[in-house]
Amino acid sequence: MNIYYKAFGILQTNCYLISKQDETIVVDPGQNATKWVLDTIENTPVGIINTHGHYDHVFSNYELKKRLKVPIIIHKEDRELLNNDDFNVGLPSSKPDITFTHDMVIHLNSFTFKAIHLPGHSYGTSIYDFGNFIISGDFIMDGTVGRYNLHTSNKEKQYQSLQKYLNLYASRHDASQVKVYSGHGEPFSLEESLETVKKWLTFF
Ligand SMILES: [Zn+2]
Repeated sequence: MNIYYKAFGILQTNCYLISKQDETIVVDPGQNATKWVLDTIENTPVGIINTHGHYDHVFSNYELKKRLKVPIIIHKEDRELLNNDDFNVGLPSSKPDITFTHDMVIHLNSFTFKAIHLPGHSYGTSIYDFGNFIISGDFIMDGTVGRYNLHTSNKEKQYQSLQKYLNLYASRHDASQVKVYSGHGEPFSLEESLETVKKWLTFF
């Protein structure tokens, strides 16, 4: 498995390409990500997954869907954010093909990963667990957690989600080996992310 990433837009949001043998998943294509995605994909694209619906993570959904003709996947609670330009940035409207409402294992061609719903930053915020690495979006970043004071956020849910994350992962013995790829900044280990969560839980 190869992971390529590059930051786009004014918020420097990471877009990821997860490539395995002959297939690739696109994660969170932000503003102006289309050319890089098309130039970098080295095999067959099989889907676009969004960690949540904020414009800086989904801006190029529309263009890429048109070019790649692959399904867009996002948690159901954020589906409306894809066609609602409520940050007034000229977001091209897109529509998900697959939504999920609870934690589930997703099979996308040769890929198998788990979608875990961790609302708070937005109501549909989710992470995608591929086993030896995790795509965390804005749920957790290096040393910090996603903002939960936006109009799309909920502080109480964020608190519950941080606890859920801790319950899910605190006992993983290989936490120092598992990489977390987040929406902004460089990757870090699952072990480091658990420390970040513990620190943030004390602020609630
Ligand atoms: Zn966000």
